[in-house]
This record gives sequence, C-alpha cells and structure tokens, in this order.
Amino acid sequence: MFQTSILVIYTGGTIGMVQDPKSMTLRPLTFENLYKYLPVLENFNCRIDFHTFEPLLDSSNMNPGFWIQLATVIEESYESYDGFVVLHGSDTMAYTASALSFMLENLNKPVIFTGSQLPIGMVRTDGRENFINSIEIATAREFDTPLVPEVAICFENRLFRGNRTSKLNAEHFGAFISGNYPLLAEVGVHIKYHQNLILKPNFKKLRVLKELDDNIAILKLFPGISVRAIEGILHTEGLKAVILETFGAGNAPTVPWFMDQVQDACTRGIIVFNVTQCKGGAVDMGKYETSAGLGKLGVIGGYDITTESAVTKLMYLLGSGYSTDSVKQLLQTSLRGEMTV
Ligand code: ASP
Repeated sequence: MFQTSILVIYTGGTIGMVQDPKSMTLRPLTFENLYKYLPVLENFNCRIDFHTFEPLLDSSNMNPGFWIQLATVIEESYESYDGFVVLHGSDTMAYTASALSFMLENLNKPVIFTGSQLPIGMVRTDGRENFINSIEIATAREFDTPLVPEVAICFENRLFRGNRTSKLNAEHFGAFISGNYPLLAEVGVHIKYHQNLILKPNFKKLRVLKELDDNIAILKLFPGISVRAIEGILHTEGLKAVILETFGAGNAPTVPWFMDQVQDACTRGIIVFNVTQCKGGAVDMGKYETSAGLGKLGVIGGYDITTESAVTKLMYLLGSGYSTDSVKQLLQTSLRGEMTV
C-alpha cells in the first residue's frame, strides 16, 4: 500500500517527442512510448497515475482553453492525489504555470511543471532527471503537509516559483530564469528546500477560476517604434488592458505623440500596465523623468512581475469580473507571490 499518490498530466512538449524520419521535425509521442523510457518510475514508493492530453501539444499551441482544461483535470482529481506533475513543453511553460497559479485559488498541494530540452528517448536527455526530480518534489511532505504546496517549475536541478519564471535559453538544459525571486529548492545529493521562500498552505478549499478574458495585448517598446504601430495596438477592437513593456525601471519615450497615445488609451478606460523588458529588477515609476509622466496619466506600475505573469494575471482578473478600479488595485497586490511589492 503506497502512502502517497501523484497524478502525472502529460500535455506534450519535447520531453515526449520523436523525430519524424521523413520530415526530421519533432512531434509528440503517446504516453505509452514515453513511459517505456522511464521504467524507474515503477520503483517509486508512491502510486503514479497518468492523464494524457488529447491532442498532445507542442506548447506553442497552448492557449487559455487548454489552461482551463488542465485546471479542470486538477480540480476533478484534487482530492484523490497528494500532488500533480505536469509534463509540458518548455516554450510556454512559464505562461501555463503562471496561469495555473492564478486559477488555482487556495492551492494546498504541489503542482510541479517539468519538461526537457532533449526528448526522453535520447541518450543524453535531461527529461529523465527532470521527471524523476519532479515526482520526488511532488511527494515531499513534512508532518503530513506537502513541502511545496504551490505551482512550481522543476528544471535542471532547480525548483522555481512558476509565476516568477521566464524561458531564457532555447538550448541550455538550464532553460529557465527567475530573475526576481530565489530558488524554492535545489537538487543535489539531497533536495534542499528553502522553506522560508515557499508559500504556506492555508488549508482552505480549492477554488478553480476558469473565466479568462483575452482582450489584452502586449506593447513592447523599442527605440524607433512608430506611432502607427502603437496606434494599431491601442485601438485593437475590444481591448481592455495593455501590458506596456518598457525599458529598464519602467521608462518610456517622453515625446508628446507617445504620451498622447497613452493618455488617450487611459481616457478610453484601457488599463495600461507597466512591466519592464528586463529579466531582473523592477518598475519604479517616478525614478526617472521618463517614467514619471506615465504615472500621472494613470499607468499602473507592475513592480517586478514577469510578462508571462502579467499576461495571465490580467486575463484572470478581467475574466473574474472585477471592476476596473479593483483590477488596477489587484494588479498592484501580490496574489500568489508573483511580485515583490
Ligand atoms: N517546442 C517544444 C514545446 O514547447 C519545446 C520544449 O518542449 O522544450 O513544446
């Protein structure tokens, strides 16, 4: 009789891909094929069950509909398992992990995302270790309480808070970065958990929020961006919020035509959320002249939130039916440890 049980949810990604002999492109394998490369899973002292997505996805095809599907699988099996391991492509893993962190309110069990840079069938694959470490972390408990009761990403011997990560490298096994929050755990001979950095369980009943509103956009600034490009984005039909990806500590051009565009968007009730393009550090509106004006127009500062987290937090807040004022206030509040206020 096993003491713990884990549900592995296989959504796709490189970890389970094979090379098509004709086209030489990578495409997802069925779970049976994936499992065949991991006989060691049978030696774990826990029950491991599997749920496979249909169809299996390269994570570039992930979207809010699949996030809802994933959240529903976790909701429906929440009481039957001690933890969840989600096998997912690394390309958009940071978005899905961020989305799930907002959608799963009162999460008191581990939801550990992992994947790999090389398919599991390859001799040098990183998938085997990532998978095994994730199972071990999802089962880790102390005094009958899970050690990691939050959404996390386990990759290359490191455990990150899911909504703090970004994919940084398309080739290195260490594909992820968490520029503004330390590691939750490090895997060596022992797994070292930094318990003071991990969210604490609140023992409340899980609530799964499944309404996501995609009436948002990202406006990434670059020197030389044209008024036409900005106008086009800010006049997207139905737009409710825009993530303004700014330079450095939240800075943007001060030229009148740019400020007019932002002011016009704010006046039309569009929420403008200032998120830095940097992978570390925070937006500090007012530090420079080039950000002070934005604050006066009503732009909301995103502190050190990642773009991935900003996208999914906005979808979640707008989808939950909050008033515009409440959305603005909640954007500046850390709901799941996604930013340092
Ligand atoms: N294209 C793949 C995906 O995101 C890459 C990976 O799994 O690392 O599904």
